[in-house]
Order: sequence, then structure tokens, then C-alpha cells
Amino acid sequence: MQTGQINVQTENIFPIIKKFLYSDTEIFVRELVSNAVDATQKIKTLSSLGEYKGDLGNLQVEVLLDKEAKTLTIRDRGIGMTADEVDKYINQIAFSGAEEFVEKYKDKAEAIIGHFGLGFYSSFMVSDKVNIITKSYQKDAKAVKWESNGTPEFTIEEIEKEERGTDIVLHIAEDSVEFLEDARISGILKKYCKFLPHPIIFGERSNWIEDPEGEKDEEGNVKKVEEKVPDQINNTAPTWVKKPSDLSDEDYKDFYNELYPFTEEPLFNIHLNVDYPFNLTGVLYFPRLKNNVEVQKNKIQLYSNQVFITDSVENIVPDFLTLLHGVIDSPDIPLNVSRSYLQSDSNVKKISNHITKKVADKLSAMFKDDRDDFQNKWDDIKVFIQYGMLSEDKFYDKAQKFNLFKTTDGDYFTTEEFKEKISAAQTDKDDKLVILYATDVDEQHAFIATAKERGYTVAVMDSPLDVHVISMLEQKLDKTTFARVDADTIDKLIQKEEEQPSKLTKEDEEKLKPVFEGLVSKDKFVVQFESMSETDVPMMITQSEFMRRMKEQQAMGGGGMNFMGNMPEMFNLVVNANHPLTSQILGEKSKKAQKNLAKQATDLALLAQGMLKGEELTAFIKRSVGLLSPEK
Ligand code: ADP
Repeated sequence: MQTGQINVQTENIFPIIKKFLYSDTEIFVRELVSNAVDATQKIKTLSSLGEYKGDLGNLQVEVLLDKEAKTLTIRDRGIGMTADEVDKYINQIAFSGAEEFVEKYKDKAEAIIGHFGLGFYSSFMVSDKVNIITKSYQKDAKAVKWESNGTPEFTIEEIEKEERGTDIVLHIAEDSVEFLEDARISGILKKYCKFLPHPIIFGERSNWIEDPEGEKDEEGNVKKVEEKVPDQINNTAPTWVKKPSDLSDEDYKDFYNELYPFTEEPLFNIHLNVDYPFNLTGVLYFPRLKNNVEVQKNKIQLYSNQVFITDSVENIVPDFLTLLHGVIDSPDIPLNVSRSYLQSDSNVKKISNHITKKVADKLSAMFKDDRDDFQNKWDDIKVFIQYGMLSEDKFYDKAQKFNLFKTTDGDYFTTEEFKEKISAAQTDKDDKLVILYATDVDEQHAFIATAKERGYTVAVMDSPLDVHVISMLEQKLDKTTFARVDADTIDKLIQKEEEQPSKLTKEDEEKLKPVFEGLVSKDKFVVQFESMSETDVPMMITQSEFMRRMKEQQAMGGGGMNFMGNMPEMFNLVVNANHPLTSQILGEKSKKAQKNLAKQATDLALLAQGMLKGEELTAFIKRSVGLLSPEK
């Protein structure tokens, strides 16, 4: 037996690393199993190159628990190591890597992302003692056993070992006994190793097969008997590593199910496959988002050569892409750096730009190839596209060609098409194009109907991001403004040269004003007379576009809007100066009859805006019934 002192400066790295990684100790499994898979991959390569002539044997990696001995073993039949290699790779490299790590992160534990290639050394996070029992594939290699307790001391000795490959034996420490539980290990393996490229075996599972003895049950069928078979925890060929041309829609859907069991089917997917100038594979799925921006975030899983790394990919892909589901696999994303550093990494930038471009290209192709289908999916992908346009200029540039306006009639237009469609009717006297929109087609029905009577087209803008989209489009589009259908009377929303003459004189208005003011709260309503068409409604409630937007932005926590905080919601009670009912109210001799008539008309306006509620509504219904009943 040989003993030695590992050449590191830090006396005992073990407690420091253990402390740092406290919440993430489980990654040691990933590190050791990946090493085992790498060693397996190497022997396969050597064999295919003819450099290894022996029998490959069963190349599976086994994870073995021995509760009595309190050990966890990771066993492979890979290339193994000679004594010299153990000295080089473990004593020198692995330990110095660990030391470097500690040096680097000593003072900034919070900077650690918890995902780094600490490698073999991470086994000491959970073990008192670790053995490496290994035999190299090289001819006449002697098997060796290495042992260390995580301090810089180790021993190494020759031993007998039949098979080629390596056993890493962890003697699990008292405070880490959770790693002696089957369920815990199985859970970790399923999290990190589910798609590794070589079979990983952990324990056994039951298989029901026909009785080999042929024994029959009462009905004469051959009985089923239980057979224990090694339980392979991984799928060695996940969809993203396959060629898109070999895959059907069904395959993609099945894989989605494998990733997220029991979730609603995705809308469509994108298969990513790049090998230059960086390596990237993956499958991204578009979920049905509806108007939901938050709930579904962060489902993308990041892998590095099929090893699971994390499922929080913010800082790696632009925020709007975190709405997508699926897998990204890239060995070129650095894992051993802090999260904030990731954003500025040039590889990460390139990868994220590439994904953004691919996603835009896919949407663009779908729009061009099958517009009907794209329109059918529109409601489900709208927020995603809007989010992307709002947050990434590059995406905006591409998306403006397939970003759609949906009208209240259910027609879809691109921005260009929409501008073209409405420009003749909806350009005002100042040469501005006014895009009319509704946020709720039912609630704003009366206003939509009025606009349509004028030959105008109303867009539906009911997503939570539309407020921002409107501001963005107003900045980007030339001479274009947006107005909600109920922001003013239709003639004020789109002002034309010719103005309706008013039937009311100044005195008439002064007489009528107090009548209406007496019916509504002064803090909430401003009474105003407009000369509209005789056939328009006698009265209506509007809320100025400007005021509403201020309120909305303030509600969303928009900066600098706090002075609006205590502003009450203000509305206009618009009286149509030209409606016969207005003349009738004006002409009423009896004060009581005048008030009743005005009240009824006001309530109708409130009703059209969904603002007549509770006691007021009940009173209105009663009054209306009274009006309909034959005179007593
Ligand atoms: P890394 O895997 O990042 O290189 P590790 O500390 O995990 O760092 O491992 C150091 C080296 O030890 C590996 O590069 C490899 O050469 C060797 N090694 C580790 N585990 C095995 C194994 N199961 N079989 C063969 N060689 C191994």
C-alpha cells in the first residue's frame, strides 16, 4: 500500500464545500453518473476505432445501494483508470479543481449557482470516505483501490478486480443518510439522468410474464408470473437528439408527455439543431397560453450533453422565451459561473439570439404556409408574440409581419393590412389614423355598434399586454393613434372636418346641466353636451383615453404615476344635444317629470357601460316596468 498527501494548499476543503453546497448536495449523483457515462462512451469510441480489441460486454451503468454497509456505489464498465491515471486525474486534477473552486467562491457563496462541474470531489459532500476501485482497459493493467476521507491524505493499493471499469464507493456520512434511501436516489436519478445516453440501472422492477412452466388458471389461460428485471431509469435516445426527419408529430407529442405528464397538449414545436459556431439541440413547445403570462413560466429544462442541469433558464434565454416549454441542450453554456455572469457571456448571447431567431422564423413560416391555421392558434399564442415584441427589438422586427389585429367581426389583419383597410374611413382631419379598439366586446357592445354604423372597424385588444402594445405601436407606427371605443363620442374619437350643428343654445345647456348633475355624483361624472346625430343615443358614458391609460399604468405600478394614485375614476356623462329626448327633457314643464325622464336616460347610459348596479339597477327596473304598464 502507498500513502500520499494530495498537493493542495487548503488544508481541508471538505467542510467548506459542504457548507457551500448545502442545499444542492444531490448534484454529486449527477457528477458521478456523468463521469461513469463518459468513461463508457470513451471505451465505445476506442472500440470503434479499433484501439480496444476486447469484448465490450454490458455497458450499462449501475447505481447500487447497500444499507447495511451504508454505501452507495456507482459502477461502470468504461475505460477505467490505471494507478498513474488515478494519481493524475484524481489526486492532482480533481482535487486541484476543487481547491480552485473554493478559492474562487470563498467570499461569495451567494454567487454560486449551484450548478458547476465540481466533479468527482462533490462525492465528499455526503461521504466520510470514498473508494475508487478501478481497472483500466489497457492491456495488463492492474486494478487499484484508492481511498480518501476528503482531507488531502489518500491511500492507493493494488487489488484484484475481474472486470474492466470503475466502482466509486461512497461511505455515506451520518448526516447524509437520506442518500441511503431508495426513493431519494431514484428521485435524483430521474431528475438529472433521465436522458443520459447509456442505460442507467437502479434496483429492479416487476415485469409480468407468462409462466415459463406453462401453468394455467381456471379459465385455461397461462398464468402470469412476476419477474424481476433491472430497472433502467433513463431514455437513452430522447427526441431532441434524433433527426427531425425521423420524427412524426406523434413522437413530439409523446416526448412532451414524457416531460410533463398530464398537461394539455402543446400547440406546435420547434426542433433546434446547430453545431456551428456553438452546439445546441433541443425541442421547444408552444403551450396554449390564452391570456396567461405568469403561470406557465419556467418549464424549459436545460441539459448539457443529455445531463439535466436546471429548469430555471432565466438569464440564459430572453424572458419571453421562458413562456415556452421543452428542452435545450448545449455543452457550450458555461455552468460553473454565477447567474449574473451568464447574461454577459458571449456564447450565451449567441445561443439566446439564435433561439429567438428560430422562434420568429418558425412563426413566420407558419403564418406564410397556412394562415388559417395560424389564425386559429392566434388567441393562444398572442401573448407570447406580444411579450416578445415588447421585450426584444430583434423579435419585434420579425414579428410585425405576423402580428395580427383581430376585429370584433373575427377577421384577422396584419398591421399593414389593417392600416390599409381602415385608412379611408378612419383618418381624422389632422391626417392621423385612429385605430378603434375594444377591450371587452360584450361590455362595450353599444359603442362597437355605433362605430360599425359609421363604417368603422374595431379591433379586439383584450390581452393583459395590450396596454403596452398600444403604447409601443403608437411610437413605432407613423401618425397612428389608438382609441378605445368608449373613450368619447364616435365623432370626437375620429374628428372630421364637418361638424354637426347643435340644436341647443348656450342658455339651453345652462338650464339642462344642473338637471343631469343632480342625478350623478359630481366627483365621478362631468356633464357635457355634444352635437351628435339625431339617431345616436340620447346619452352615453365615456372615459377619456388619456385618463384611463394613466389609471391603468398606475395600477400596473408604472413609475412616476404615483400622483395619480388617489385620483378617483372620472367619467363623462355625454348628452346628445340633437336627440329628440334631450329637447323633450328641456321642454318639460313639470320639474318632477323632467327629472324622471333625465334619470331614465342617464340610467340607460350607465346600463350600456355596465355601470348600473345594485340598488340603482333595481330602482331602474321598477321604474321601467312602471313606464311600460298602462296608466292607472
Ligand atoms: P471532470 O469530469 O470535470 O473532468 P472529475 O473530477 O469529475 O472532473 O473527474 C476527473 C477525471 O477523473 C475525469 O476527467 C476522468 O478522467 C477521471 N474519472 C472520473 N471518474 C471516472 C470513471 N468513472 N471512469 C474513468 N475515469 C474517471
